[in-house]
Amino acid sequence: MKVNLSNLINGSDYQIELDDIFEINEIKTEGNDIKFNRPVEVNGGIFNTDDGIYLQAKVSFEYTTSCARCLKNITKNEVAMLDYKIVYENDQEGSSEDELILEKGNILNLKEPIISSILLSLPMKTICDDKCKGICPHCGKDLNKGDCNCEDDNIDPRLAKLKRLMDK
Ligand SMILES: [Zn+2]
Ligand SMILES: [Zn+2]
Repeated sequence: MKVNLSNLINGSDYQIELDDIFEINEIKTEGNDIKFNRPVEVNGGIFNTDDGIYLQAKVSFEYTTSCARCLKNITKNEVAMLDYKIVYENDQEGSSEDELILEKGNILNLKEPIISSILLSLPMKTICDDKCKGICPHCGKDLNKGDCNCEDDNIDPRLAKLKRLMDK
């Protein structure tokens, strides 16, 4: 997704409205496989101010991922923010995390900032419910649907003895 900022830079426009969609199917991260259910929506603008050029936009998306505990599919809606100052490559200040560098021909490429804003807005682990019990690591049963019989078998033998005493 690229925007030409020439009109902002030559002063014929003070702002460029962003009302666009960004096509992306999925993102794989360490803890999450995210599948997008529809194109990502980008709404906001790029503004030429006395202080420089700024990008401010909302990134809205709906995604499906699996619960980190029970692996059930979950669909979630999320909104991330783009908030950057636009700079030229030859600026002396050096690039910082909240600056975006213009490409040749005054082109601003929004692909990376959109993807990184999405990644930043995702939780480390997505779970279907705070109370999700997950699946049994031994028999694979979804413990939200009822207990399995594994518990006693996998207890440390030393503790098993103690447990037997306590159960009496
Ligand atoms: Zn779950
Ligand atoms: Zn089990």
